[in-house]
Amino acid sequence: MSERASRRRTTKDRDVKHGESTGSSGAAASSAVVAIPNALTVKQLADILSVSAIEVIKHLMRNGIMVNINQVIDFDSAAVVATDLGYNVQEESAQIESEEDAYSIADEDSSVLISRPAVVTIMGHVDHGKTKLLDAIRQTNVAETEAGSITQHIGAYQVDVHGQKITFLDTPGHEAFTAMRARGARVTDIAILVVAADDGVMPQTVEAIDHAKAADVPIVVAINKIDKESANPDRVKQQLADNNLLIEEWGGDTVCVSVSAKRGDGISDLLENLLIVAEVQELKANPERQAVGVVIEAKLDSSKGPLATVLVQTGTLRVGNNIVIGEQSGKIKAMFEDHGKRVKKAGPSMPVEILGINGIPQAGDQLVVVGSEKEARTLSQQRQREKEAIGKAAIPRLSNIFQQIQAGQVKELDIILKTDVQGSLEPIRTSLEKLGSEELKVRIVHSGTGNITENDVMLAAASKGVVIGFNIRPEPGAKLLADSEGIDIRCYQVIYKLVEDVEKALSGLLEPSYEDVIEGHAEVRALFDVKQGRIAGSYVTDGKLTRGAQARVIRNGELVHESSISSLRHFKDNVREMAAGFECGIGVEGYTELEIGDIIEAYRKEKVT
Ligand code: GDP
Repeated sequence: MSERASRRRTTKDRDVKHGESTGSSGAAASSAVVAIPNALTVKQLADILSVSAIEVIKHLMRNGIMVNINQVIDFDSAAVVATDLGYNVQEESAQIESEEDAYSIADEDSSVLISRPAVVTIMGHVDHGKTKLLDAIRQTNVAETEAGSITQHIGAYQVDVHGQKITFLDTPGHEAFTAMRARGARVTDIAILVVAADDGVMPQTVEAIDHAKAADVPIVVAINKIDKESANPDRVKQQLADNNLLIEEWGGDTVCVSVSAKRGDGISDLLENLLIVAEVQELKANPERQAVGVVIEAKLDSSKGPLATVLVQTGTLRVGNNIVIGEQSGKIKAMFEDHGKRVKKAGPSMPVEILGINGIPQAGDQLVVVGSEKEARTLSQQRQREKEAIGKAAIPRLSNIFQQIQAGQVKELDIILKTDVQGSLEPIRTSLEKLGSEELKVRIVHSGTGNITENDVMLAAASKGVVIGFNIRPEPGAKLLADSEGIDIRCYQVIYKLVEDVEKALSGLLEPSYEDVIEGHAEVRALFDVKQGRIAGSYVTDGKLTRGAQARVIRNGELVHESSISSLRHFKDNVREMAAGFECGIGVEGYTELEIGDIIEAYRKEKVT
């Protein structure tokens, strides 16, 4: 057993007392218990242990672990430091689990559950009438119940259909829907797919179908604009069938209603059908418990401060409740429903705008009610730490999918497949699907032609999948989003190579991919020809240069040579490394044409994990 492992064992075997650390520093904290998450930065550990980051780094160095202040370390390493400082260590995952239990909206004793309204999102191609339909539905409701009242746009609204409520999310489109899912929020119970009867199924219609299916959300089709002369509902039904969406009339199980959002035809029929689909889903919640909800939208109001619209998912939210909302906390001062009326409480599926939070959460963030303001602050801080430290660890990449399969973390590889032409979609899809097995399915969540878009990346994030492109590239925005979300995008020009890579990934044979990490730059200011070649008298402008590092020579912004740094001298001395702000002599392997003004860029190849 390694020293680290044995230390960990010792700390865990002790009879640990549950509770917070006393906060005292160093060995004085001999009997205190600290809870440490399974990943955290050096700085966060220093905060938890109430010591300086330097002290943490020193302890880690003594144990052979070299880190900087912002580096993420694992539980084992953190535990070594905490033990050295006299703490009893507890892994925080146990606490997180209990957080999940306490705030889970599922698995409740069925006897306390009662029906709750369905939450509906409208999706479809641009200009097919999503906004118009949302307005038409809202007006139906206003006419029946609150004529004359001014509707407020708070991000969601409820309508009353024969005494039963339905909640509509006000931001139409599968983009918002999937962005919420990517943040881990499951909000929508039913998706209305709007298809204009005169235009038919279009690319975003297909995308919407795939996004709803990927989330396992039932679809209700609204064939819109039937007032138009050019309307052809039958053609739409055929196109839907071609996209594996078979409506009831044609022997399938998808409800389909013809409407005109403009004239109001079919709206009540649509609402009644939504009630039926909701009924089948048996949507239930427990209004008696503490509320759990999700942020629909949030903003800063110049006079009221931070405002958030929250959809209550279970329990009842009340004015005066202490809450944690995303990484923010607060105490609810006031709540408003979608007509701007003040309310004291909000039950399951009700959207309310709340006042009294100390910052602006993000759409998709979870709200939970906790016992006290102190608890709210502690939990929000814990969430901040988890977010910073754990980040994207759980997202599969093609290069680590095998390890995740082995660890039992994934049972399905979800792929978003984009190609240049329709003709290459089917063969690739079939070849990829064939690679799957009983234990591990390969599922093409969405496929389509055209460049890789932000939507594709978002869907990959929501499905914990990868994006594969054939003969196409990611759009710049998609690339940025993929980098920030940690999503793997792989592009190929040869089909067999694409399929081979996925096959290798599934069997753990895929070579990891590498990316260049720039280490520093130097500017050439003088030249010396010596026996071994040409030496560039240079000034290190940023970062550092290391002997042996890979190097590029850049002249007027263009790459003129690529090899490595063969020699590095400071005055007469051979040095291993030269930092920014120093002058040095640089030799570039196999290159004698260095010129004054050239930039030497040092970099290293790093495995992308
Ligand atoms: P969105 O992009 O899907 O939100 O589409 P909009 O709701 O903005 O509607 C796009 C255009 O179609 C607008 O000019 C609407 O007035 C029009 N439109 C929407 N629904 C209908 C309808 O039922 N009949 C007709 N004739 N036009 C409609």
